[in-house]
Amino acid sequence: MLLTFIIEIFFLLGSIGFIWGLRLMSSPETARKGNIYAGVGMALAIIAALIMPLEGNVSNNYAWIFAALIVGTIIGYYSAIKVAMTSMPQMVSLFNGLGGACAVVLGLADVLHYYDGTKVVDTLGFLTVLLTLFIGGVAFTGSIFAYAKLEDLVDDKKVTLPKHSVVNMIMLAGLIGLGAYILMQGEAIGMEAAIIFLVISLIYGVSFVAPIGGADMPVVISLLNSFSGLSGAAAGILFDSQFMVVGGILVGASGTILTVMMCNAMNRSIWNVLIGGFGGTSAVGATATGGTVKEISLNDASIQLYYSQSVIIVPGYGLAVAQAQKICKEIDDQLSANGVDVKYAIHPVAGRMPGHMNVLLAEADVPYPKLLDLDEANSALSSADVAIIVGANDVVNPAAEDDPGSPIYGMPVLKVWNAKSVIVLKRSMRSGYAGIENPLFFHDRTKMLFGDAKEVLGKLSSEIKSL
Ligand code: NDP
Repeated sequence: MLLTFIIEIFFLLGSIGFIWGLRLMSSPETARKGNIYAGVGMALAIIAALIMPLEGNVSNNYAWIFAALIVGTIIGYYSAIKVAMTSMPQMVSLFNGLGGACAVVLGLADVLHYYDGTKVVDTLGFLTVLLTLFIGGVAFTGSIFAYAKLEDLVDDKKVTLPKHSVVNMIMLAGLIGLGAYILMQGEAIGMEAAIIFLVISLIYGVSFVAPIGGADMPVVISLLNSFSGLSGAAAGILFDSQFMVVGGILVGASGTILTVMMCNAMNRSIWNVLIGGFGGTSAVGATATGGTVKEISLNDASIQLYYSQSVIIVPGYGLAVAQAQKICKEIDDQLSANGVDVKYAIHPVAGRMPGHMNVLLAEADVPYPKLLDLDEANSALSSADVAIIVGANDVVNPAAEDDPGSPIYGMPVLKVWNAKSVIVLKRSMRSGYAGIENPLFFHDRTKMLFGDAKEVLGKLSSEIKSL
C-alpha cells in the first residue's frame, strides 16, 4: 500500500518535472534550468519504475533491467558530451527513432492482451496496439532514414521513385485497410497480422521520408519528433501508465506545434510538404545565375562596419560550423561601443535545427532583445546600413521571392538585399543545404568576404581594434 503510494507520488512529481521543465524551456534564459527539471522528472519516473517490481505484480528481472539502464546511461551520456552542435539534428533524429522503436517493442509485447490466440477480444485495445505499431514504426525507420540523409549517407535522388507521393498514399491506404480488416476479423490472425502491419509501417517510414529533403527537412524532423511522442503516449495507454501518456503527449504536442511553426516559416502546408517533395530532391531546378562577384578587403569591411549607424548580422549554418558565435559577439561589442546599432536577423530554419541560432547566440551571451525574428528583421533591413551574412545561404536567397522555377520559391527569406550594403562571409561560392545557387552573391550591393567565419571575424575584430 505504502509502496504503491510512493510509486504514484514519484510518477506525479516526474510529470510535474516534465511540465515545469517544458515551461522553462520557452525562454533561452531559463531553458538550461528547464532541461534539468525535466531530467530530474525522468529520474524520478525511472526510480518509480525500478521499485514497481517490489509490489510483486510485474517482472522483477533486475539483472536485465540494470543492464539496460547502464548501457542506456553510458550511451546517452557520451553522445550528449561528444556531439558537436552542428550534429545535434542527427542526434535528435536518432533519439526520436529510438523512442519510436521502444513503442514498437511495447506494442508487440502487448498484442496477446487483446488477442486470445483465436480472436481479437478487445477491439479498442487492439486498435491502440496497431496505432502504437504504426506511429512507432514510422517514427523509428523515418528518423533513422532522416539521420542518414542529414549525414549525407544517402543520395536523395537515388531513393526517390517516380510518383513517390502516389506510392506513399497507396501504402498508407493499404495500412488503413489492413488495420480495419484485422480489427473486424474474428479468426486466428492476431500476432501474424500485427507483425505484417508493423513491417509495412516500417517500410512506410522510410518511403515517407525518402522524397522529402533540402529546405523541407526541418518540417520532417519536427514531425517525426511529434510521432515519437505520440507513439510513447499510445504505448502508455496500453500499459496503463499515466506518466508515459503525459510525457508522450507533451513531446507529441510540442512536436506538432513546432511542425506547424516550421510550416509557417516555410510558407507551406504540412500536406504540401508531405506530398509535394518541395525543395528537397529537385535542386536541379535551381537557376544558374552567373555574373560578376565583387570581393571586399578586411580593411574596407572593418571601416564600413565601424562607421555605420546600423548593422544587421545574419547568422547561418556556417557560423555554427565555424563556432564563430563568440567572436561575432566581440565584434558586436566593438561596434556598439562606437555607437553602431547592432542587431541579429534570425531566420526560423537557419542552421540545422529549430532554434539553432538562438542557442548559439545565447551561448555567446548576446542579449535576447538584439535578436529580430523574420518579420522584424525584414522591416529593419530596409533601413540598415550594412547586412553582414555570416555562413548563411538558403535563408537569404532572393530566388525564393522572384524565381518561380526555384525549389525554394515561396519560402519566406531575409531580404538582406534591401540593406544599403551587403557583406557575405563564407568560404567559397558553394551552395547551401538546398543545393541551389544564390543570386544574392552577384547582386550590385553585395560584396563577398571569403574565408572561415571564425578566422575572418577574428581578423576583422583586429582591424576594427586598430581603427
Ligand atoms: P545553408 O546550409 O543554406 O548555408 C550555409 C553556408 O555556410 C554554406 O553555403 C557554406 O558555404 C557556409 N559555411 C559552411 N562552413 C563555413 C565556415 N566554416 N565558415 C564560413 N562559412 C561556412 O545555411 P542556412 O543557415 O542559410 O540555411 C539552413 C538550411 O538548412 C535551410 O535550407 C534549411 O531548410 C535547412 N535545414 C534546416 C534545419 C533546421 O531545423 N533549422 C534542419 C535541416 C535542414 P561555403 O561552403 O562556401 O563556406
